[in-house]
Amino acid sequence: MSTLRFHAIKESLTRKPVHIEENERRSSIFGSNVFNEDTMRQFLTKEAFNSVMDAVQNGTKIDRVVADHISTGMKEWAISKGATHYTHWFQPLTGATAEKHDAFFEPIGNGRAIEKFGGGQLVQQEPDASSFPNGGIRNTFEARGYTAWDPTSPAFIYGTTLCIPTVFVSYTGEALDYKTPLLRALQAVDHAAVDVCKYFDKNVKKVNASLGWEQEYFLIDSSLVASRPDLVLTGRTLLGHSPAKGQQLDDHYFGTIPNRAMQYMRDLETECMLLGIPVKTRHNEVAPNQFELAPVYDEANLAVDHNSLLMDVMDKVAERHNFKVLFHEKPFAGVNGSGKHNNWSLSTDTGVNLLGPGKTPMSNLQFLTFFINTIKAVNDNEELLRAAIASASNDHRLGANEAPPAIISVFIGEQLTNVLNELEHVTNGKLSPEEKTDLKLNVVGKIPEILLDNTDRNRTSPFAFTGNKFEFRAVGSKANCANAMTVLNTIMAKQLIEFKAEVDALIKKKDLKKDEAVFNILREYIKKSKNILFEGNGYGEAWEKEAKKRGLSNNKTTPEALKAKISDKTIKMFEQLGVMNKVEAEARYEIEMEEYVLRIQIEGRVLGDIARNHVVPTAVRYQNILIENVKGLKEIYGNDFKKYAQEQMQLIEDISKHIELINSNVTKMTNERKKANAIDDIEKKADAYCFKVKSIFDDIRYSCDKLELLVDDELWPLTKYRELLFTK
Ligand code: ADP
Ligand code: MG
Repeated sequence: MSTLRFHAIKESLTRKPVHIEENERRSSIFGSNVFNEDTMRQFLTKEAFNSVMDAVQNGTKIDRVVADHISTGMKEWAISKGATHYTHWFQPLTGATAEKHDAFFEPIGNGRAIEKFGGGQLVQQEPDASSFPNGGIRNTFEARGYTAWDPTSPAFIYGTTLCIPTVFVSYTGEALDYKTPLLRALQAVDHAAVDVCKYFDKNVKKVNASLGWEQEYFLIDSSLVASRPDLVLTGRTLLGHSPAKGQQLDDHYFGTIPNRAMQYMRDLETECMLLGIPVKTRHNEVAPNQFELAPVYDEANLAVDHNSLLMDVMDKVAERHNFKVLFHEKPFAGVNGSGKHNNWSLSTDTGVNLLGPGKTPMSNLQFLTFFINTIKAVNDNEELLRAAIASASNDHRLGANEAPPAIISVFIGEQLTNVLNELEHVTNGKLSPEEKTDLKLNVVGKIPEILLDNTDRNRTSPFAFTGNKFEFRAVGSKANCANAMTVLNTIMAKQLIEFKAEVDALIKKKDLKKDEAVFNILREYIKKSKNILFEGNGYGEAWEKEAKKRGLSNNKTTPEALKAKISDKTIKMFEQLGVMNKVEAEARYEIEMEEYVLRIQIEGRVLGDIARNHVVPTAVRYQNILIENVKGLKEIYGNDFKKYAQEQMQLIEDISKHIELINSNVTKMTNERKKANAIDDIEKKADAYCFKVKSIFDDIRYSCDKLELLVDDELWPLTKYRELLFTK
């Protein structure tokens, strides 16, 4: 066995769980490192406090003088908690979070110093932004970018640093991050939804989108990960034969959480509590060493921040426990990959969940309005929704018979299917009093507050209604949820605006009552959105065929999928709603295509290296041992040797065959890579990487994995799947 593999396994096997002391109740430490409402009351003047609350609730701007008061209070609080530095915390388009720490400490001459943090430093910063992806925005406009405080997401302390959530924009105002378009989309859906709510309740002033994500991940011993160059550099295994036992016994899912993993989770949860991330659920997932963690849902912007922060914290806590967290959507072939379900709904400032059935026919009509508008929005924008979850890594998971396919469809369950069928037959135009009564009592009025088929919900659907929310299941585990949330809230905003306009027009033109007009439009929407509804098995081949007939998109690869992000239709919608202008949308497209190319390029290089520098030399060494053996047998048995060396001779031949295949395929891939690198046009380049370079990966892997089975285990240099997946 190679020394690296040997030591890695030995080290991981001898590890003991890190002991965690927990004396305090979790609820008593919840949010104690967050500059939340309670803390603000304590540390801010009344005027400053009100000003922040007004900004949070109504989006009002914070006056510069007041900002000075706020920063002073924030600094006092942070220093009282042991913070020495502050940073603007933001989410550039790299997918990771970014921070640059500055000390509060400031010399004031004569060898003296003070702690300083003014309103200016709170509100705006200019990080050197030249190394963040910008898709050409800063070249065409201004060289600089700046970060600006987002008061709707509270500041927090991590370690000894005060972190201030910010947006990141170019000097001419173009978004360079995930948060800016998300905030714009949330505002758009707020306004559009409030307008529609007014049909049902005049008191509604604000509608919040809520998000509850579920984060799946693998937890692997850090020394085992370090022994695999592919895991270290690409986050996934590029080769490795399936172990004899994988997940076929279903014995990991919801099983007892292994001791070491449990200690990690407890430590992580404590950190989450301090940071105000309301984590609630933890369990084993389907694959060995795969787990899930989910919080209680929150306002979408805050929930997105929490998820980004969580992924960071997960990495950091894992270091203490000698684990490495794998966020990649498909770290191991042959066992399940990881996703990040996005549970989404809309709720009013009057406390109503707009996607939850209510007690009265009126509240149920409101529910149906939002429910059917969501379906219509998804129906009209399925391809864009698919684009919102596209990435090189998620391509491995979508459609892999464990995760939803690349086809977007909506599952609503039997009860609601029946309701929609009834509504479809509502009379066109004015309704008779009998029909109205019938609708109210027997259709709308019959929707129970708790929908029965939440429990037997269809797990193969990418977008499923689960009783009081929709669950967007195709989001990648590594992804920033902002991407999916921006699109979902934008298409919903657009849909609700259209709905409002159509209902108003009907009321005016045909002199209909409000309810009649609502019923009429909903009926049309049901008819128009039929294609997107699917209750069957989303993993089956039959669905692919059926979806094709229905004209639904099935973009299996990222370069194909991303195109929907810059279609005329998309750009028009983004512009109309003020979410992104053309420059921003195109820049993002460029960045994502670029990232796709780079990811595949890195994988290609790593795979070539491992195949040539690890696998082939090992196979040659083993083959030499076999050759020596055959020679020895010949010495002993003379011409009779073949009788005793059949197996060895076959092995020698097979090994040669695979070495030859690896060499020729790696050469082929390298040549294709060179050709792809010479292409300037990003679309053609991404296509080349997808269809010419990546397509050879499987052939190289095939031979490497065969050799793994043939070569003496003692010699094999790479930690094997069984060791990675079953070491606890
Ligand atoms: P699972 O899908 O694993 O069965 P649950 O149904 O318990 O899980 O819920 C998953 C997530 O949905 C949780 O984070 C929960 O807080 C969130 N959730 C529940 N209600 C809503 C809602 N109205 N809006 C958004 N998320 C919600
Ligand atoms: Mg779920």
